[in-house]
Amino acid sequence: MEQFQLYIDGEWCAPSSGEWFDTVEPYSGEVWARIPRGNAEDANRAVEAAHRAFLSPEWSGLSATQRGALLRRFADLIEVNADRLGRIEQRDNGKLIAEVSSQVKNVAQWFHYYAGLADKIGGSVVPINKPGVFNYTKYEPLGVVVAITPWNSPLSLTSWKMAPALAAGNTIVLKPSEFTSASLLELAKLAEQAGFPRGVVNVVTGYGAEVGEPLVRHRLTAKVAFTGGDIGGRAVNRLAAEDLKKVTLELGGKSPNIVFDDADLDQAVKGAVSGVFAASGQTCMAGSRLLLQENIYDTFVERLIAMVSEARIGDPSQMDTQVGPIATRPQWEKILGMIQMAKDDGATCVLGGHPLTGEGFGQGQFIAPTIFTNVTNDMRIAQQEVFGPVLSVIRFKNEDDAIRIANDVDFGLAAAVWTRDLHRAFYCVDRIRAGTVWVNNYRSTSFTTPFGGYKMSGLGREGGVEALKEYYQTKSVWITTQPDRANPFILG
Ligand code: NAD
Repeated sequence: MEQFQLYIDGEWCAPSSGEWFDTVEPYSGEVWARIPRGNAEDANRAVEAAHRAFLSPEWSGLSATQRGALLRRFADLIEVNADRLGRIEQRDNGKLIAEVSSQVKNVAQWFHYYAGLADKIGGSVVPINKPGVFNYTKYEPLGVVVAITPWNSPLSLTSWKMAPALAAGNTIVLKPSEFTSASLLELAKLAEQAGFPRGVVNVVTGYGAEVGEPLVRHRLTAKVAFTGGDIGGRAVNRLAAEDLKKVTLELGGKSPNIVFDDADLDQAVKGAVSGVFAASGQTCMAGSRLLLQENIYDTFVERLIAMVSEARIGDPSQMDTQVGPIATRPQWEKILGMIQMAKDDGATCVLGGHPLTGEGFGQGQFIAPTIFTNVTNDMRIAQQEVFGPVLSVIRFKNEDDAIRIANDVDFGLAAAVWTRDLHRAFYCVDRIRAGTVWVNNYRSTSFTTPFGGYKMSGLGREGGVEALKEYYQTKSVWITTQPDRANPFILG
């Protein structure tokens, strides 16, 4: 069994606690690796190493073009190792190998994209309204970035932060989820191989309270990029606010998937399935509220049940499996608790609603794809994020009714609209309060476009040129061209 080490200041080292914890394969229930239990001492060492690296000529002396070349080399190594990384991640979080393989190839694309942008971060000459001065702006990196990620897509969600952060010239400390640390420790081996100077990339594993908080609290941490739940997100935001650290938060969602009666229903049924049953619903952008126009409600639900009932559920390492296990035991228990809550609140369970055990279901960390009908938007199951394969189906009358229901939650991460009517699509797109709106598709993402939340779904954006702005600050430079000051006592 592999016992991993921390990666700090270019060295592989044991945690100062001298302790390791088990990482478990969700499907087999087997412990397959041991992860270092980092603590505040390790966190401090990592931030300090990243700070030294930030100031070092080996990193800060690189031209932006050289930084881009380094990122490109790293991306190439990720591409070469994609299958191996994918298998590690799949083993750790139980996600389908079919999805993880393409996700890891995409990780390489994220680094290629930001490698290309590294030397295109230019300021501007400002046509200033004063005589005798020349003014220009330049963009400068922030310093040490701490990237904290959850268990559902560790490599992917890390690349969303790491690629723009390094492209802009920052250094980074990665803190993966305690449930899925192995793939990021493997990623660090590739960073080392790519030739990043020591301390530019660090990985400290461990628990949120023991490692995450000290990383956020450290006075040399300049920025925190966090993806996770709203409880952790708020805690991080509060801590970071103490000394005005910059923060990006990618939190949860309760995204509406709205189907009008004029939609291509074949495609919409597929969209509803991929919205909430792909990745067993363990995605922030899950379309966990299906809003159906009242005249198609019954037939749509019937077609949905027919499709979901045929899903191949089981071993996530098999390419043809469609629904895999729940990644962690606490999450499995939480989902079952929320299913019970929905039943208690009066929703009708028309499919699933129970765990799956027996042959083909490994150690039993499975939950049957679950559909609740007769859900009203004020029910807890319609308001709280489940992060599992549980769909709430809600009825609406017309556009304004759908928009009112769609927006009546604390979250605002994503939404979809299914219609053949272009005017209706635009009408809804303009009124839905969410960071991403899909029309006649669901769950599309790309490194080329921003992703992030409205309301309680987060702060800031990841992806696209826009995300770079989250990792640099602007300096305004004034140069005197006529040295004679008329009156030094007056602001000129
Ligand atoms: P979580 O908040 O429990 O943990 C996320 C990470 O934060 C972990 O590494 C954890 O150790 C760390 N952490 C927790 N508390 C912390 C604290 N006080 N200080 C510092 N670090 C702390 O989330 P999770 O259960 O791992 O992941 C599920 C959540 O992630 C869901 O709510 C989901 O919606 C969200 N998510 C959001 C996106 C997005 O892009 N918006 C993507 C994926 C997942």
